[in-house]
Amino acid sequence: MPRYSMTTALAGAAAAAALLVSGAPVAGAVESSQARVVTYDAGQAAEFQAAVDKAAEVWNGQVRNVKLQKATGGQADVTVLADDQWPRTQTDSLGKGTVWMGRAAVGEGHFIPRIATHELGHIFGLPDNRTGDCNDLMSGASAGPSCKNDLPNPEEKAEVDQNFAQGAAIRPQLFTESPAG
Ligand SMILES: [Zn+2]
Repeated sequence: MPRYSMTTALAGAAAAAALLVSGAPVAGAVESSQARVVTYDAGQAAEFQAAVDKAAEVWNGQVRNVKLQKATGGQADVTVLADDQWPRTQTDSLGKGTVWMGRAAVGEGHFIPRIATHELGHIFGLPDNRTGDCNDLMSGASAGPSCKNDLPNPEEKAEVDQNFAQGAAIRPQLFTESPAG
């Protein structure tokens, strides 16, 4: 065989290897297979739809083991609704439940993005923790309407990642944000 053909064959093999590398993002594939996808439907969340989408983005940027995605059909894991009561979340299991974006809290001046990320925190297995500290996402309304923090603190992020890493069992529960309740 002339040397020319051998060179061509080698070049072809190299090109095939390059294709394999570029076509298979190994690190990304490993990462996404570890994260559990939780779908949500905010189609009935009225004026809060955009806030819910933003809150999903916020969470996706803060934790590794769960990823919120807008449902594209079928039954979503999380349904987000809107009504005139206090915001609340009914959990069914880890990553599954119903969120109500209650207008009662908005009417008292509470920050909508914080309400949305807080309620999704319940879906991720975080309980209320009424410390009154604005640095805590799960302090909720106890931090007062002036609190504009919509980010989980490091402990809250770690707890969510741990919940999904372990497939933690959470019992069905209704979390209501009313200061009275
Ligand atoms: Zn809560």
